[in-house]
Amino acid sequence: MFGAWTACALKDRGWRVTMIDQHGPANSRASSGGETRIIRSGYGNLAIYARWAGASLLEWLGLELRVQERLFVKTGALFLGSDSTWLADTARTLRDEGVPCERLESAELRRRYPQLEFGDRAGAVLEPAAGVLFARRAVQALVRVLGQDGVELTARHVDARAAIRDDHADAVIFATGAWLPMLFPDILEGVIVPTRQEVFFFGAPAGDARYSAVHLPAWVAFDEGIYGLPDLECRGVKIAVDGHGPVVDPETMDRIVSVDALARMRDLLRTRMPGLADAPLLESRVCQYENTADGHFLMDRLPGHDRVWIAGGGSGHGFKHGPAVGRYMADLVEGRREPDPMFQLAGRPPRRRAVY
Ligand SMILES: Cc1cc2nc3c(=O)[nH]c(=O)nc-3n(C[C@H](O)[C@H](O)[C@H](O)COP(=O)(O)OP(=O)(O)OC[C@H]3O[C@@H](n4cnc5c(N)ncnc54)[C@H](O)[C@@H]3O)c2cc1C
Repeated sequence: MFGAWTACALKDRGWRVTMIDQHGPANSRASSGGETRIIRSGYGNLAIYARWAGASLLEWLGLELRVQERLFVKTGALFLGSDSTWLADTARTLRDEGVPCERLESAELRRRYPQLEFGDRAGAVLEPAAGVLFARRAVQALVRVLGQDGVELTARHVDARAAIRDDHADAVIFATGAWLPMLFPDILEGVIVPTRQEVFFFGAPAGDARYSAVHLPAWVAFDEGIYGLPDLECRGVKIAVDGHGPVVDPETMDRIVSVDALARMRDLLRTRMPGLADAPLLESRVCQYENTADGHFLMDRLPGHDRVWIAGGGSGHGFKHGPAVGRYMADLVEGRREPDPMFQLAGRPPRRRAVY
C-alpha cells in the first residue's frame, strides 16, 4: 500500500517507476493483504492524521470511481471509551478540521447500539463519514491501474545491498512493511518491530440485521485495545485485539490463529457483544503490524544514502493514509520538503505507543 501509492504519486509527477514485490501486490503475507481496514479521521489530538485520512479518502474514492469496483463502505466509526480526555480531544480535533462528529453518552450509546455492551462509564464519539476499505481489493485495483498508466510491475525478491548499489535509478524507495528490519538490520532492528495480530470473523444469527453495516458502525475501544467491524459482504462480524502480539517473522510466521486467542476472543464477545457469545467462527486471519516505537510512520532517507528512502512503520493504522503517504514520499524524493521530525529516523523515542 505505501509502495503502490508512492509509485502513483511519482508517476503522476512524470517519473518512470518500477514497482517490485517479492510475493505480488497485497499478498497474503503483506499487512495490506487483509480483507478490510478502517478509515477514520478520529485520532485524539493528532490533527495531521485527521487531515491525511480525509484527503486520502477522496483519493480512495477516486480510485473506486476509476475501477468501477466497490472499495469503500461508509459504515461510520464509533470511538468508545472511558478515557474522556481522548474522546474530548478527538471530538475537538474533528470539529476543528471540519469533520462531522457526535458525542454519545452511555444511555444513548446503549439505545443506538444494543449489540455493544461497554458498561455505564463508557462514552463515545461517532464519526459518521468514516468507513471501511476493502484493503486487498483496493491495493490490487490500484496496482492494476498503475500498470495501465505505464508503471512497470515485477515480482522478485530485492536484495537491499544490490539495490542500493544499482545506479540506474535516480531514487530507490523501500516500502517493505514488516520486512524493513530484515533488509536493514543494522539500522532498523528494534526501530520497526513486526508483531503477530489475530483477526476473527463470527457469524451473526440467521436473519439478524443488527450486525450489518446499516445498524452497526466500525467501532474501536482504544482503552481496551479492541475493535470490530460490521458484517460486510456476508463474511461475518470482524473483531480483533489491537494490542501488540508476539514479535514475528512476516515471511515464515504460521498463520493459523491460536486456540488461546480464540478463547480470549470468546471471553470478549461474552462481555462486549453478548449476542455473539456463541456465534460460530467463520473465518480468521493472522497478519502483522509493523510497529515503530511511538506508532508514527517512518518516512526518511536511509542514513548515508542520498537517493535511498524508507517508507514504513504503519503501526496498525497506516492503511487508510496510503494516498497521503505517497504524496509525502514523492515530496521527499523530489526535495520539496525535508523529513518531518515526527516521521524521521533520528531521535525516535523508546518503545512507547502514542498513536491509537
Ligand atoms: C490485522 C490488521 C489490522 C489493521 N487495521 C487497520 C485499519 O483498520 N486501518 C488502517 O488504516 N490500518 C490498519 N492496519 C495497518 C495497515 O494494514 C498497514 O499499516 C499497511 O497495510 C502497511 O502497508 P505497507 O505497504 O507498509 O506494508 P505491506 O503491505 O506489508 O507491504 C510490504 C510489501 O513488501 C514486500 N517485500 C518485502 N521485502 C521485499 C523484498 N526484499 N523484495 C521485494 N518485495 C519485498 C512484501 O512482499 C509486501 O508485499 C492493520 C494491520 C493489520 C495487520
